[in-house]
Formats: sequence, structure tokens, C-alpha cells
Amino acid sequence: MNIIVCIKQVPNTNEVRIDPVRGTLIREGVPSIINPDDRNALEEALRIKDTYENVKVTVLSMGPPQADAALREAIAMGADEGILLTDRAFAGSDTWATSTALAAGIRYIGDYSIIFCGRQAIDGDTAQVGPQIAEHLGLPQITYVEELKIEGDKVIAKRALEDGYFVIESKMPVLLTAIKELNKPRYPSIKGVYDAYKGDKVKLLSAKDIDVDFDNIGLEGSPTQVNRSFTPSGRTGQGEIFQGDYKECVNKLIVRLREKHLV
Ligand SMILES: Cc1cc2nc3c(=O)[nH]c(=O)nc-3n(C[C@H](O)[C@H](O)[C@H](O)COP(=O)(O)OP(=O)(O)OC[C@H]3O[C@@H](n4cnc5c(N)ncnc54)[C@H](O)[C@@H]3O)c2cc1C
Repeated sequence: MNIIVCIKQVPNTNEVRIDPVRGTLIREGVPSIINPDDRNALEEALRIKDTYENVKVTVLSMGPPQADAALREAIAMGADEGILLTDRAFAGSDTWATSTALAAGIRYIGDYSIIFCGRQAIDGDTAQVGPQIAEHLGLPQITYVEELKIEGDKVIAKRALEDGYFVIESKMPVLLTAIKELNKPRYPSIKGVYDAYKGDKVKLLSAKDIDVDFDNIGLEGSPTQVNRSFTPSGRTGQGEIFQGDYKECVNKLIVRLREKHLV
């Protein structure tokens, strides 16, 4: 069974800065990590590999050359190989162009039973890329997966809802998006890190290497235009600290909240 896990390298901060002219994220000078939900996706793929025979896990990313580090980290955790789609032609891609490129990368890889994505990236934050890849490839999809079982040629997934869950079955091939409740990702071992940098474990592919429509990638191929972006101002009000007997403090707090019609 071949499993492909889409991994996005993201800035290690919630304080992303935005280029005021292009409306795109400024990534320079910010340390990068594997997107947290993608670690859960990878962990689940590795658990399947640990449980069944002949399972191959490929990690796939679209990004600048430095995204190589994210793929090597995934290999150090246990993935078999990495593929990095990297080309200036991909620069400025919105979610549509990103999913177009990733779907082309997946077609290039060819044989797969499960495609895993994270639910959402912590920088772009749209949760669109996974479902879009499934649409490009004509695959069934189950999003927000918090529990997963494999039975024969199908997956059975518990799909989280705000106030409950669905249990959904799908035949493979299928695209799944992982949430953090799915598992606790493992750490890479020291030997794993050493081995990840040995040999040719990450393959670089340009836009020409994969069969992708150039009209649908990069800034020009992106239907989304950022008209305006802004950084929300911080807290405006002054805090208030109640001191003394805790019962009096609680009563004062309730009075304040009532005054502000918050309770
Ligand atoms: C006009 C415009 C221009 C942009 N220009 C750039 C740019 O130049 N450079 C840039 O980096 N971003 C750029 N972005 C942001 C970029 O579109 C998004 O970061 C990207 O499309 C993914 O969307 P998201 O972060 O919301 O991912 P989500 O949809 O929230 O991600 C869901 C999951 O999809 C997978 N995934 C998402 N992106 C990737 C990826 N690149 N590789 C592998 N797996 C992935 C992961 O598994 C992830 O957990 C631009 C956005 C817009 C609107």
C-alpha cells in the first residue's frame, strides 16, 4: 500500500507578517516547522506502516528549496522518501494553484491508496488544499479525521463535528485530512535524523517535471487576489485586578460582567 502525506513547511509563529503590497506572507527570517496537523497526518501514516506489511510512505511538499528540511524531518520520523515540488513558477500560488500543483505531483507519483493532508495550515489557515486535491483527482474525501481504521480495501473514519461525530466508510483510494485529536506524533530518532541526510531520499521536481497546467499555478494562475490585509491592533482596554477575599472578588467580577452584558 502506498500512502502520500502532504506536508507544508510553515513559520513557527502565530505572528505572521504580511507583505502590504503583494498581500502574501513574509516568511524570511522566521524559523520553520512542519505544519502541526501534518505531523498528525504523518503519524497516522507511520502507524499504518508499523501495523501492515509492504506499506510505503511518501511525503510531498510544494515550497522553496528550504522545505527540504521539513521532508528530511518527516523521513527521520519514519517516512520512506520525500518529493519537493520547487520552482519559481509555483511562487505566489493561492490555494487553488497549490492544490493544482500538489495534485499533479500526486499523479506523477502514481500509485496510492491514501492521501493524507493536515486539516489546516497554521499560516494560510484556509483548510482548502486537502479537499481541493481530492476534487482535482476525483477522489472521495473524509475531513477532520480523529480516529481511523483500515478494513480490507476501505477506511473507516470518525469525523469530528462541533458537537459530535460521524463514522464514515470509504473505499480506497481516498483523501483524509487529519486533526490533532487523531494521535500524538512521534519524535524523530537521532539515527533517523542521521539516516535522513544520507543518500538521495528527497527528490526535487520542477513544474516542467510534472504534468501541470502552467495557467493554473503561481501568482498568475491564482484566482484569489488579496485586496487588503491588516494586523489587528492589540488589546485596547485596561485590565482590572480584584484583590482580597476571593468571594468578594468573584462577586465584583460578576457585577462587572453584568454591567458589560457579558453574563
Ligand atoms: C494571492 C495569494 C498569493 C500567495 N502567495 C504565496 C507564496 O508566494 N508563497 C507561499 O508559500 N504561500 C502563498 N500564499 C499562501 C498559499 O496560498 C497558501 O499557504 C497555500 O495555498 C496553502 O493554503 P493554506 O495555507 O490555507 O493551507 P490549508 O488549506 O489550510 O492546508 C491544508 C493542508 O494542505 C496541505 N498543504 C497545504 N499547502 C501545502 C504545500 N505547500 N505543500 C504540501 N502540502 C500542503 C497540508 O497537508 C495542510 O495541512 C498565497 C496566497 C494567496 C491568496
